[in-house]
Amino acid sequence: MTNQHSSHPEPLSPDTVVVAAGRPARSHDAPVNPPIVLSSTYVGTGTVEDGDRAYGRYSNPTWDPLEDALSQLEGATLPALVFSSGLAAVSAALSLIPVGGVVVMPRHSYQGALVMAQEQAAKGLFSLHTVDIANNDEVIAALTGAGGKAADMLWLESPTNPMLEVADLQVLCRAARAVGAIVVTDNTFSTPLVQKPLELGSDIVLHSVTKYLAGHSDVVLGALATSSPELRGELLHYRSIHGAIAGPFEAWLALRGMRTLALRIERSQASALVLAQRLELHDGVTKVLFPGLPSDPGHERAKAQMTGFGSILCVEVAGGAAAANTLVDALRVWTPATSLGGVESLIERRRRHANEPATVPENLLRLSVGIENVQDLWNDLEQALAQGAAGVSVPAE
Ligand SMILES: *Cc1c(COP(=O)(O)O)cnc(C)c1O
Repeated sequence: MTNQHSSHPEPLSPDTVVVAAGRPARSHDAPVNPPIVLSSTYVGTGTVEDGDRAYGRYSNPTWDPLEDALSQLEGATLPALVFSSGLAAVSAALSLIPVGGVVVMPRHSYQGALVMAQEQAAKGLFSLHTVDIANNDEVIAALTGAGGKAADMLWLESPTNPMLEVADLQVLCRAARAVGAIVVTDNTFSTPLVQKPLELGSDIVLHSVTKYLAGHSDVVLGALATSSPELRGELLHYRSIHGAIAGPFEAWLALRGMRTLALRIERSQASALVLAQRLELHDGVTKVLFPGLPSDPGHERAKAQMTGFGSILCVEVAGGAAAANTLVDALRVWTPATSLGGVESLIERRRRHANEPATVPENLLRLSVGIENVQDLWNDLEQALAQGAAGVSVPAE
């Protein structure tokens, strides 16, 4: 079971891999699911350098099937590495930038990743250039340093959070490679079922497993996957020494949640498209951001590099931040909460967070479409939009 890629003669499709990967070896009376191993240390006379498990901060048998499944899904040749959170994985990935180096990041990167990079840059560890990741010329100019110092790392996120800009992954990975920069792609929004960054030229794929992979809003966990033994070695060392390791129960829950990933993605993507199309026609909405709409600037690029368009969409509400807040308060099926990728539909006004970039409009709502009945989701949005338009304040329950 431990980190062995399956030996099926035909490559399995990803929706089978999410179900089949990371199962215990078949033998009489073997369990169908991997056990949870609760142990801080392991019997042994060797050391971790000899390949022994040695101690609970270096490895845990409960991580292995999840790491194996993630690596198979992303098409990595080495087992993935799970971390205690997506941001712990971000921290490990940023540690690969040499002191005094240069990192290029999307202006609308995940907020926590951006804040971490800004704080490390402010301490003088490296210099940070934020760019419009959908603009190839701007990104390539930042990578080559335009006469100055070339970049050491390109951070990619596509579609971005929350503006849903689509980066040209193949072109940007090639440009990064040409200057010797390591490419890290945060694939949280898409999951490997929708986008495969390693195949498009990225060196490392990052996940907040918290979101779609675990899928039930009951776990905080992160992961990195790479096919480079050198990079993986550095990331594993970072995890072991900095200590942001996954709890065995969280790792088990994440794999348990991943079993239904293909079904959840299929439903939520289909619903997101329906809702985006209807919202685009609604008077209470001035703009819909969703790469699945032919009117979206990222549509053609997304079509070329993704198998779908994801299940996150954003709307700008007529009437500004106040109308957006009224809408959120009036919803009964949608849950007002941050985060995304769970079975339940979530909505939030992003600018309520102090750290959100000022380039994100005040009236922008981010919708994470779950797996509820799409007509119920629409009815709820429609009645809430009507309340916003009427300027009605919602009575307390
Ligand atoms: C949530 C998220 C993260 C951070 O992950 P945590 O598990 O919350 O630490 C990173 N990137 C993206 C795109 C996210 O949505």
